[in-house]
Amino acid sequence: MRRHILPVFGLLVLGLSIAAAQQPPPPQGAPGQLRPRPGTGRQPEVPPPSIMDYKPRSTLVVPEHKVTRARFPVVDIHGHPPAFSSPEVVKNVVNLMSPLNIQVMVQTSGASGAELKSRLDAIAAAGLKDRVAMFTTVSFREVAPGWGERAAQQLEADVKAGALGLGEIGKNLGLGTMKADGTRLKVDDPELDPLWAAAARLKIPIFLHLGEPQEFFQPLDFSNERWQEMALFRERRFNDRARYPTFDELMAERDRMLMKHPKTTFILAHMGWHANDLARLGKLFDKLPNLHAEVGAVLYDLGRQPRFGHDFFVKYQDRILFGKDSFQPDEYPYFWRVFETADEYFDYYRDYHAFWKLYGMNLPDAVLKKLYYQNAVRIVPGLPTAGLPR
Ligand SMILES: [Zn+2]
Repeated sequence: MRRHILPVFGLLVLGLSIAAAQQPPPPQGAPGQLRPRPGTGRQPEVPPPSIMDYKPRSTLVVPEHKVTRARFPVVDIHGHPPAFSSPEVVKNVVNLMSPLNIQVMVQTSGASGAELKSRLDAIAAAGLKDRVAMFTTVSFREVAPGWGERAAQQLEADVKAGALGLGEIGKNLGLGTMKADGTRLKVDDPELDPLWAAAARLKIPIFLHLGEPQEFFQPLDFSNERWQEMALFRERRFNDRARYPTFDELMAERDRMLMKHPKTTFILAHMGWHANDLARLGKLFDKLPNLHAEVGAVLYDLGRQPRFGHDFFVKYQDRILFGKDSFQPDEYPYFWRVFETADEYFDYYRDYHAFWKLYGMNLPDAVLKKLYYQNAVRIVPGLPTAGLPR
């Protein structure tokens, strides 16, 4: 009998592998489902936890250096504190900034026209013009011939009124905003050129958030490293190709626009969504001396590459600015710790962004100063400097 079993078994295996080659890959198991662990043939004897529940306690004991206050004064170039609707709001925000050593907050929930003037009045009435600054904004709705000239005029008026930059230009541009003719408004649309050119003439920076993390454009499967966040937030899924361009299409549109405007100062929010591929951002920096980037909301990518990240920040030390994005005072110290220490394997503040741990980049003081305030002072004319070292 034995003699017969092996050939039959062999044929069966052969048959199965042919079938496997012809079939689509098997569906991925649902969380908690008992199934063999690939590669071992073993299966857990107790139901496995889902990715939402598995929070192992680290037993690693290494030196810890929590940093509650930044080593040098900071300009937050990507601030979204509450709207400065009254002097009290401004005072409250500044009271939260001071213990963190944030000297200047740039309000990048920009305001234009009469709203901008009332925000600036509130800042002046609070006596805090040295601590907060305003950027202006522009609406990209209904872009049609003549839009660019009108937007440029409004920008000039807002800069005269006291706005120090334009932005944050939000992710809708390129992803959701439609032109008057019903087509998708691309960031390199010629109708927008007069706006970018006006910023060069007025010597103000443009703060641009274009696109979203690369994985948000990929299928929501179990190999997507942003699975949790995409599963939690429907509006962060841009993987429907019938509705959205690919990540690379968006980036190509952005790069074409940047090339067309070498005299305009640009700051890419969120490291241009290349914090997971710094060499790609480096190539862009090499091509475009007018280009800068800020670190808001991408600490999870910087803190997982402390050595490559360190070298990148040293090499491009004149091009990277500090920004935080959402105004949560208790989250800033995570940034200080990643930038200033050599700590290992510590938690990030938002585990649905990153299920991994962070490491300190241990940046030199000279680089920290540029990141924290010197680059901002250099590229944002009129930024208040009274509280900053000379
Ligand atoms: Zn923002």
